[in-house]
Amino acid sequence: MDDMNTAHPDQAKAIGALLEQGFHTLVVSALLHVDPRIVKNRCRSRTSVKTKAKFSRVPSMLTLARDGLKWREVGILVGAYLNVADKPFESISADALIAATRIYQSIHLSINGGLAQEHMLDGNAAFSIAREYRDGTLKYVSCPVCKIKFAHLLRCASAPSPYKCPVCNSKVQR
Ligand SMILES: [Zn+2]
Repeated sequence: MDDMNTAHPDQAKAIGALLEQGFHTLVVSALLHVDPRIVKNRCRSRTSVKTKAKFSRVPSMLTLARDGLKWREVGILVGAYLNVADKPFESISADALIAATRIYQSIHLSINGGLAQEHMLDGNAAFSIAREYRDGTLKYVSCPVCKIKFAHLLRCASAPSPYKCPVCNSKVQR
């Protein structure tokens, strides 16, 4: 009989692939709809991902919103995500997260002369962003004046400059 906390071979492969990408065990569990214990077990059995998983974090939107540099990155990442996500209001796919993170990180690198900065976001941040977007608490809005698009958090008192463009400071209509 199968151990309840052991992954089936197909499952194990998918779990391993996402862990290799640096996704947190809780994110892997949410993306694949697999019990977190199964993912953790799989993680323990693979030394190649143990360290990655140990240091990976799933940042909350508030954590990202309180850091001006990171919040600007959120704007780039959510733009990349919406370009590749099929039904961002319905579900979150691992493929879309991976593709969006790649696109975003290549933009980040090109802006920063090829050097990854400390505030560069990863797939786990992409997951947080995708989840908030799906749930309607994160919006991607346009500035009516300079036309730049940026991320905006709803129902969050401590979000930076609510409804103000980060570039020209214009007020944005709700
Ligand atoms: Zn503006």
